[in-house]
Amino acid sequence: MPLLKVDILTLFPGMFTGPFDESIIGRARKKGLLEINLINFRDFARNKHRIVDDYPFGGGSGMVLKPEPLFEAVDFIAERDGRRPEHIILLCPQGRLFHQRIAEELAQKEHLVLICGHYEGVDERVRQHLATDEISIGDYVLTGGELAAMVVVDAVARLLPGVLGDEAATREESFSGLFLEYPQYTRPREYRGYTVPEVLLSGDHGRIARWRRQQALLRTLKRRPDLLKYEDLSPEDKKLLNEDLG
Ligand code: SAM
Repeated sequence: MPLLKVDILTLFPGMFTGPFDESIIGRARKKGLLEINLINFRDFARNKHRIVDDYPFGGGSGMVLKPEPLFEAVDFIAERDGRRPEHIILLCPQGRLFHQRIAEELAQKEHLVLICGHYEGVDERVRQHLATDEISIGDYVLTGGELAAMVVVDAVARLLPGVLGDEAATREESFSGLFLEYPQYTRPREYRGYTVPEVLLSGDHGRIARWRRQQALLRTLKRRPDLLKYEDLSPEDKKLLNEDLG
């Protein structure tokens, strides 16, 4: 049994080749931790030419995805599994803005269905009567939901136990707490005259931990004041900001 099963309803399953076959996601699939099914909802178009879009009622530019193929693709999933999927996410620019907390929430689920829109989007009845959730990956408009689905699956999959191998890596990185991650360095100690902060080479684990927290706080205050306000810092963190840690 995979930890998470994801059914992706898309007109362009070929777009997922590569991102879902390589690297960490590819490995998670091979290990059986993650199951991804790409379902081309054109297969559920009943008309002769398998048309899945049509002109918008009331006029206007572009084509709208018809409701029937999407509803019927979800019926197919329900029949396959012997029960209706509970979490059906429509990728759309009007959805709730995706972030790490939502990834953590979705990583708790056993089954997700993702609907990738295209063209001018989907018939409103899909939003109202089929989808149980709507997610946007940012305030910009993509040509289709496929890239958004990849972003969501990637961010969720790496939180599943065993996918990264090193659970501590996900605990310490940006957004897992309230802050952006501290700066990371690796060998060599010096490259083109650019050096690694001395504290990281000191072997003093307490000092390194304080420096990292200080850096994470400073970065977050500077780069993402929407995430963290100086006034909200604990007295210890305010003090830490003034420490000279090298
Ligand atoms: N006419 C739609 C609107 O104004 O909201 C935009 C449709 S967009 C060109 C086509 C599809 O791309 C959408 O149905 C959705 O699935 C996907 N998409 C576009 N931008 C997205 C975003 N920021 N987040 C998630 N999905 C997005």
